[in-house]
Amino acid sequence: MKVSTLLQSGKPLFSFEFFPPKTPRGEAALFRTLHELKPLKPAFVSITYGAGGSERNKTAEWAARIQNEVGLPAMAHLTCVGSTREELLARLHEYARAGVENIMALRGDPPQGAREFQPVAGGFRYAAELVALIRAEFGDRFTVAGGAYPEGHIEAVSLEADLRHLKQKVEAGLDFVVTQLFFNNALYFGFVERARRIGIQVPIVPGLMPITDLAQVRRFMDLCGASIPGPLLSRLERAQSPEEVLEIGVEHATRQAQELLEAGAPGLHLYTLNKSPATRRVMQNLQMVLR
Ligand SMILES: Cc1cc2nc3c(=O)[nH]c(=O)nc-3n(C[C@H](O)[C@H](O)[C@H](O)COP(=O)(O)OP(=O)(O)OC[C@H]3O[C@@H](n4cnc5c(N)ncnc54)[C@H](O)[C@@H]3O)c2cc1C
Repeated sequence: MKVSTLLQSGKPLFSFEFFPPKTPRGEAALFRTLHELKPLKPAFVSITYGAGGSERNKTAEWAARIQNEVGLPAMAHLTCVGSTREELLARLHEYARAGVENIMALRGDPPQGAREFQPVAGGFRYAAELVALIRAEFGDRFTVAGGAYPEGHIEAVSLEADLRHLKQKVEAGLDFVVTQLFFNNALYFGFVERARRIGIQVPIVPGLMPITDLAQVRRFMDLCGASIPGPLLSRLERAQSPEEVLEIGVEHATRQAQELLEAGAPGLHLYTLNKSPATRRVMQNLQMVLR
């Protein structure tokens, strides 16, 4: 099922993001999580593309398994990291053969320790080039989504420049964008307003991550440059147990989600980190408050 068709319904789309597991235990856990979350009827689940190593080869395989064995539409991520144009094209053919109909087209991050992204010879510098390749070679065969950054991408010289680049990426052929996680909805609302003002018309789906582990969130913040509001951080720092952190995380994500949907967001993309409890509780809370 192409996500672009689902978007036309005008109803909010809920989606969950996973990463390909590296071990048989991780595989079993992912299947368990997928089956636990399936009753929540996500519009699609997305499966990330690793920075390198064997798990990046598993994205297409996992997307196919999610579709065939779990029965949910999948979106396979793809990045430009370490690949030439020809290798990316071969990967796209692999996705098509696996029955993938939805792709999240990304540039990818520089390798650990490097400050700047360097494309390989014959590769791409920006995600917009990958989006253009997909459209040139496959037309409308895939729904194509991309990433967007309410607080600005960590390498961006300014919010304005980042938004201009996003517009170019959308014009290269994106059907919709999904945002980096954020914990303050004002950032998303301001971003959508600025995007609309410069003519970006595609749906902007907010990405949310219920906090379950403070140390892990701090690592994400360092990596992607997103911020955490002071009062939320203080509450998390005062928490006495992992259970209390989860309670605070679920409560905050529920409030964010409710406000976003009530304000007309086109859906919610939940970063699950391959675990179900927090995502399930946010979705169940939402079903109660939005009834
Ligand atoms: C929803 C989502 C899912 C993700 N999934 C994955 C994943 O599966 N695997 C993974 O490795 N990473 C993933 N990422 C992380 C992503 O790869 C990084 O954030 C990466 O640093 C940027 O990718 P991009 O596609 O947004 O890049 P781009 O859109 O190419 O932007 C990267 C930077 O280049 C700048 N730029 C763009 N065009 C130009 C131009 N013409 N001239 C000058 N500057 C320009 C932008 O302003 C930005 O600062 C995901 C991010 C999001 C938001």
